[in-house]
Amino acid sequence: MADTDEITVVGGGVAGLAAAIVCAEGGAPVRLLEARGQLGGRARSDDGPYKTNFGPHALYANGTLHAFLAERGLLPPLVKPPLTRVYFHAEGRRRATPPPPFATAVVKLWRVKRAPVDRSFRDWASERVGARAAEQLCGSAGVFCFFHDPGALSAAFVWERWRQAFGDQPTKARFPRGGWNAIVGRMERHAREHGAQIETGARVTSAPRAPAIVATELKDARALLHDDALDHPGGLAVGLDLGLTSRRGDPFVVWDLDQAGWVERFSTRDRSLAPAGEELVQAQIGIRPGESTEQAEQRLETLLDHALGDDWRARTRFRRRTRFEDRSGALDLPGVSWRDRPAVERGDGIFLAGDHVAAPGLLSDASIASARAAAAGALAWRGERGSGAQAGLRAEISRL
Ligand SMILES: Cc1cc2nc3c(=O)[nH]c(=O)nc-3n(C[C@H](O)[C@H](O)[C@H](O)COP(=O)(O)OP(=O)(O)OC[C@H]3O[C@@H](n4cnc5c(N)ncnc54)[C@H](O)[C@@H]3O)c2cc1C
Repeated sequence: MADTDEITVVGGGVAGLAAAIVCAEGGAPVRLLEARGQLGGRARSDDGPYKTNFGPHALYANGTLHAFLAERGLLPPLVKPPLTRVYFHAEGRRRATPPPPFATAVVKLWRVKRAPVDRSFRDWASERVGARAAEQLCGSAGVFCFFHDPGALSAAFVWERWRQAFGDQPTKARFPRGGWNAIVGRMERHAREHGAQIETGARVTSAPRAPAIVATELKDARALLHDDALDHPGGLAVGLDLGLTSRRGDPFVVWDLDQAGWVERFSTRDRSLAPAGEELVQAQIGIRPGESTEQAEQRLETLLDHALGDDWRARTRFRRRTRFEDRSGALDLPGVSWRDRPAVERGDGIFLAGDHVAAPGLLSDASIASARAAAAGALAWRGERGSGAQAGLRAEISRL
């Protein structure tokens, strides 16, 4: 039985926007409610002279968000990363070439498509390439785990993401010119063109009426839906955004294999990200158990000394520190896969979307995959009062 029930989407990050787009394209009336004054959630970039991104930087051309945007002609101009000036940090020093244990490990594992869910990445990799090379491989996964010890995570989780980020060559990382606001702006326009009503500054304070899609961070969904089962481990890291005066020969990337850190100069190919004569650098490292944010920041500063030379402080014109706690997507421990995360369908016409929800994909790709599934479920529930939701949802999930 078709009716005119509006679908409520709570949250205006990329998950909420994607869900609103799919629902609106499906012909349903949609209202998206975003608590902040701006859309985008973590995918916002700063409007100031330094176009820092609060969350994502890389849009993976082999991922779900890229495909979602491409299908709708919504891709903004994208910058490809340079292939030069990529360095490694291993055994306490910066290197222009990969350290031999790491290089050998990558060659040995290059053709391995899958790793087991129930083993740790460290154990699985050590068995194949030896303990020393495995440690460097574990460190190399920090860039997408935002966690001090990627080796402790499920081998399947780490290896699937590693392959998407680095194993698919030439690299599929892309960077929206001018920052992620370009993506958010295009998604907003498309949603509005298809009739979605969008309200900002509209915090939802009680469980929404069905059919609804809650596309917030998991802790906000937990509070909103009064559901303590909405929990799943996430990363913990400290990040530094730095505006530095330009200097010839600065690296593009320093890939830290010792402590799972990462340093990247985003202005290398996109001069619009920093004022003339300056560079925009972001660096991050996982915070260890028992370590304060300040202590982790000190380790990150030491990595920056190695990456950029110890005069980077004197070149600093802008600095912002951020602690990222559960903000960079779900982490799956050994024995757990994305299927074990909080399910998209919550019952009674309520659906979840986000990067901690049961959906596959690297970083924000999980937000989009779950948003598609949630939208399919909400559309089916709306049309058939529950009986079609399961079929719509199952079809979408099996398509992923
Ligand atoms: C440091 C860092 C680096 C990252 N790097 C990458 C990367 O390179 N590539 C990549 O793909 N991903 C990356 N990610 C992950 C990416 O940022 C997230 O996966 C993605 O932005 C999540 O989008 P979302 O819509 O699910 O959630 P969010 O962006 O968190 O959106 C949720 C929205 O809900 C709103 N909200 C919350 N409560 C309410 C309420 N009660 N009422 C109304 N609205 C509410 C919030 O204000 C927010 O706008 C990174 C994340 C971090 C932190």
